[in-house]
Amino acid sequence: MGSASVHRCRSCGYETDYITLDFDYGMSAVVVTPVLCATHGVMTAETGLMAWDTDWESQKADEYPCPECGELSPRWNRRTCPQCGKKSMGIWRDSPVMMWD
Ligand SMILES: [Zn+2]
Ligand SMILES: [Zn+2]
Repeated sequence: MGSASVHRCRSCGYETDYITLDFDYGMSAVVVTPVLCATHGVMTAETGLMAWDTDWESQKADEYPCPECGELSPRWNRRTCPQCGKKSMGIWRDSPVMMWD
């Protein structure tokens, strides 16, 4: 089961939508990871990798298409704030963790 949570910047208060952890996957085995689209901000992107492929971890790439516009977007490190640029993003403890499939 995958889990998603809101990430929030301790410096400027910027908040993401619910995004997954790095290379997380649910029952469908589709591996997803957060990316930073220049237009849409932090998004959860499908990597095209399947968790049942034993070597999927070695096939990780640095960029994946944004699910909204398809633009190739760099993986987001879950630390750097897209708004103020400080490494002060973290899981917002007050937000409930959303479980998906
Ligand atoms: Zn910030
Ligand atoms: Zn986009």
